[in-house]
This record gives sequence, structure tokens and C-alpha cells, in this order.
Amino acid sequence: MCAKRSPNLPSLDARFQRDDLLRAVTNGVTDGVLFLSEKGAIVDINTAAEEIFGYARADLRGKDVAVLIPTDVGQWRALFEPGPRLLQRSDFLRGQEFTGRRSNGAPFTLLLNVALAHDGDQPIIVAVVRDMTEWKRAEAKIEELTLHDPLTGLANRNLFQLRLQDAFHQAERRGHSAALLLVDLDGFKGVNDNFGHAVGDELLREIAERLTGVIRKIDTVARLGGDEFAIILGDLDGHEVVDGLATRVMAILTEPMTVQGCLVQVGACIGIGFYPDDDTHPDELMRKADLALHEAKTSGGSGYRTFGKGTRAPARSAKALETDLRLGLVRDEYFLAYQPIVDAKRRKLVAAEALVRWRHPKRGLMLPDTFIPVAEASEVMVPLGQWILREACRQAKAWQAAGLPPFRIGVNISARQVEDPDFVAGISTVLEETGLEPRWLGLEITEGVAMGDAEQAIKKFNQISDLGVQISIDDFGTGYSSLAYLKRFAVQRLKIDRSFVRDIVDNSEDAAITETVIKMGHSLNLKVVAEGVETEDQVDFLRTRKCDELQGFLFSKPLPAEEFAEWAARQPKRRAAG
Ligand code: C2E
Ligand code: CA
Ligand code: CA
Repeated sequence: MCAKRSPNLPSLDARFQRDDLLRAVTNGVTDGVLFLSEKGAIVDINTAAEEIFGYARADLRGKDVAVLIPTDVGQWRALFEPGPRLLQRSDFLRGQEFTGRRSNGAPFTLLLNVALAHDGDQPIIVAVVRDMTEWKRAEAKIEELTLHDPLTGLANRNLFQLRLQDAFHQAERRGHSAALLLVDLDGFKGVNDNFGHAVGDELLREIAERLTGVIRKIDTVARLGGDEFAIILGDLDGHEVVDGLATRVMAILTEPMTVQGCLVQVGACIGIGFYPDDDTHPDELMRKADLALHEAKTSGGSGYRTFGKGTRAPARSAKALETDLRLGLVRDEYFLAYQPIVDAKRRKLVAAEALVRWRHPKRGLMLPDTFIPVAEASEVMVPLGQWILREACRQAKAWQAAGLPPFRIGVNISARQVEDPDFVAGISTVLEETGLEPRWLGLEITEGVAMGDAEQAIKKFNQISDLGVQISIDDFGTGYSSLAYLKRFAVQRLKIDRSFVRDIVDNSEDAAITETVIKMGHSLNLKVVAEGVETEDQVDFLRTRKCDELQGFLFSKPLPAEEFAEWAARQPKRRAAG
């Protein structure tokens, strides 16, 4: 926390030396505090600043602050220049990053807050400095781990999505086009089965290298998962060059390769979509390239297809599902399963996450991964989301009325819902109508929700938070700019994604990232929840790192409401969760 600034800061010369209370406070905080004259000369610094910059305070008295913060441009320097005083504004220089210099000359990033105080008639500048080195390191590490595929070093799905957006923006600005190629290997599973995973992995690395070799610097190759790759070609004058490239990609993928002494050969299919001709929306263009890919696959053998008029036919199945999704609401085919979240220390129930299920009349029980993306791509997500929210709140209230000790109910919220103008009002209405106290509702949001209009989203979440509803960042670590986001949101919890938790015991990178996320969460006063906990070893790891709450099959799978109530009733008695 930053040190509190007092408008009546006592005199800083002789009096400051004697004022035990002020000294105890300034020396007790972990942020560095610099007291500066109007001309930028150092009057005094606190103990934390001595540590951060590596100087003894006696050596700095009277020196220019440029020794510590050598910035010669911008607002910081303008503080010490004669003329209109920027400092009169109370919000001046709040939380801005600057480069500091330690006594050994090493530069580092610091966060600066500046306030103006007076010593009699003499203005005194109070600069509060926070060392951001650890933060920057964690940010870079998380970015590296979350934007790249560890096996091949290629862009992963997150980075791919960002690059696709970029390519569209660039193409729009220059009036050019862009192409998206989805590549699917054929026979990769056979390589894995026959030669083992080591050979399979090596093959993927080899393919990654070859693909990178045929594209231009401005293009992107990404691994989207298993044996799926994608190529983004930006800034194209016409479509012809893409034909040539697709042919070359086909050739390099399908020629036999020697991997770890084994001769292997796979097939490949490619689906191609063009911006802006086929679509101008990234998700839609993905879908269209995917349809082209599907067509390439069903026509037998290796080959590539470009999205075209004939490709539209299979789109009907997505359309049909969309219609079914609406009907499902009318026909009451959805229900919620609840998965317990327990306190890491005592393993007591503190919350339940509501997870939607669909009893489809023809396809049987459907899990959210198969239909939520379709719902999100259409308008259905809004009424469906509203139904989920209402049902979860109703159930939570019913459990409280039935005498179960109250616990938080977590509801997943998708970007579509947040964009809806009635989103905030919808939440208040549901709370009012169901009678659930806001503190028992928790919204789980992913970082994607602020990808569109971030300012609007932040405003809405702050309003919801003001209602007393709790907010968790879901799937933490899988999105872009995870940390930057946190600084702006009224968030209470971070949920570490299952993909990190899965391997914490054997994978040192996942262990490191999980450990870092827990530490950072705590430094921001957030609770940290780990999802996907399946083993006692994982519990041990997470508990020793002070993770706060745990969720996973080890405790229970998601259960229908009645079974959940039975599970909860079997738990030892305890006080209400906070
Ligand atoms: P999520 O929010 O990350 O939810 C956790 C998912 O992990 C659930 O899958 C849960 O069953 C699964 N899980 C929990 N513990 C374990 C474990 O120990 N091991 C393994 N292997 N898996 C575990 P589910 O129910 O299939 O949900 C998948 C995703 O669908 C959710 O991921 C969430 O993103 C989305 N979703 C589910 N319900 C809703 C909803 O009501 N609204 C929205 N917008 N999205 C939802
Ligand atoms: Ca969730
Ligand atoms: Ca997750």
C-alpha cells in the first residue's frame, strides 16, 4: 500500500528529525518516500527508499533527485521547473511508471505517486516510490507462458487471436486484404501411437519450424492445439499469392520426414478464409475457414479449400443449434450443476460454482463447451445467461431457506452478457426478485470480457461491485495482459486456470507461475482459488503456497442441485462462510 499523504505534514527540517511518530510511519512503510525541495533537492528519504535505491540517506541529502530518478522529460521533471505549478492539482502524478537508478547504476521500473505539502511557506514535494521489478518480472513471465505454445514456441491461441485482430486492423487501414489458413494434420495420431509421444512431439516441432520458414516476417504461425495450426497472412494485395503459399505448405507438411530415426509421413488439410471478402469479424472468419477445412477433409486425401459459396451448406448445423438453444429456453431443457469450492486450510465448503448443462432432446446431455461458444456467437447468450443467473440465485436462496449454512454461489458470465446494455440492471433485478443477499453472489469473468469496450466493461463491473456482489477473474493466466487488468477492476478473487494446476507437481514452469500468481494475488489483497484440483499432492503444493480456496474433482464433480445438497449436508458442521 502507498503511504498515506497528510496535508499537514509537519516541518521537515529540524522538526522532522524530532517527530518520532512521522518517522515511525515513514520508515515503517514498504514503499520508498522521498522528501524533496521545490528545486528537486533531496531533503530526506525513508528506510525503504534507502533499500530500494541502495544509498544511505546521509549521502543523498542536498543532492538533486535526478540521481535517483534521472528522467529528463515529462511531468516528473516539469515539477521542478519554474512556471505554472502542476502540483496544485491533487491528482497530479498518481501511479505513473518511471525508470529509477540504483546506486550501482542499474535501472529499474518504479511507480511514482507525488503530493505537495508545506513546511511553513516552503513547499515540500513528497514522492512515494514503489519498486516494480518483481511485478515486471512476473508480468513478463506470465506473458511468455500464456502467449506461446511451450512445445513448439509458436504463438498459442491467445496470441493468435490478438494477431488476427491486428492483421484485420492493418488490412483495413491500408485497404489491403488478409488471409487465415487453418491447418489440420492427418495421421498424426497414428504417428503418436506407432512411434510414441517423443516422436510425435518432435514431429510437431519440426513442422513448426518448417511452417515458420515459408512465411514472411509479418505473418504469424500459431499452434491452436493438438495437431491444429493456423497461419495469418497480413497485408495482401490479392488472393493469388495465397494459392502459392497453400501449395507450398501442403508440400512441406506431406513430404516424408525423418524424426528421431523414424521415417514418418502425415497428410494435411487446409481451410482458407479472406478478410474482408469472406468476413470482417475474427470469430466469423474463423468459423468460415473452419467450414472450408471441413470441406477439404471430407473430400478425401490432402488438399486445401477456400471458403466460397458452396461452403455455406454445413453452416446450417450451427444455425440449427442456435435455434435449438432458443427452444431449449422455452422447453426448459437447461439445468445447473454445482461444484463445491472449499477453504484450503479446513476443506470447508465456502462456495459453489454453477455450471450449465443441457438436456438436448436428440443429442442427449450436452456439456457447456459444446454449446456455450455457439450461444456466445449469437444473441441467445443474453437470455440464457439471465436464466442461469436467476436459477443460481434462486437455488442459493432456497438452500439458505432449507437451513444449509450460506455459501457463495459463483456464476460464469460471458462477454456477450456484459455488452448488453441491461446487464447491470438485470443483476439487481435478479437479486431483488430472488431475495438473495448480494454478498452471496460471485460473478466469474474472464479477461476476454474487456476485450471489446474495456472502459464500459470496467464501469459496469465497478457498479456491480458497489452492489456488494463479489467478482472473480476466471481462467487466470490464460488471457492477455492479465495483470494490467487487475489494477483497474474491483476484483476479490483470482481463479488459477486448471491447465496450470494440472501439472504443478511435475512441471516446474506451471509450479512457478502458480506460485507467482498466488503471491501477486495476495500482494493485491485478493483471494486466490485453484481450480481442477484432483490429487492430494496438488493440495499440498497449493496449501504450502497459501492458496486460499480449492475446487476440483478431488472434493467433488459438479452435481445436480439435490445431490449437491446431500454432499453439503454430509460435510462437518461449521460457521457461515465469509
Ligand atoms: P470453467 O469456468 O473453467 O469451469 C470449470 C470446468 O472445469 C467445469 O467444466 C468443471 O466441470 C471442470 N472441472 C472442475 N474440476 C475439475 C477437475 O478436477 N478436473 C477436471 N478435468 N475438470 C474439472 P464444465 O462444466 O464442462 O464447464 C466448462 C466451461 O464452460 C466452464 O469452464 C465455463 O467457461 C463454461 N461454462 C459453464 N457453465 C457456464 C455458464 O453458466 N455460463 C457461461 N457463460 N459459461 C459457462
Ligand atoms: Ca468458472
Ligand atoms: Ca478454467
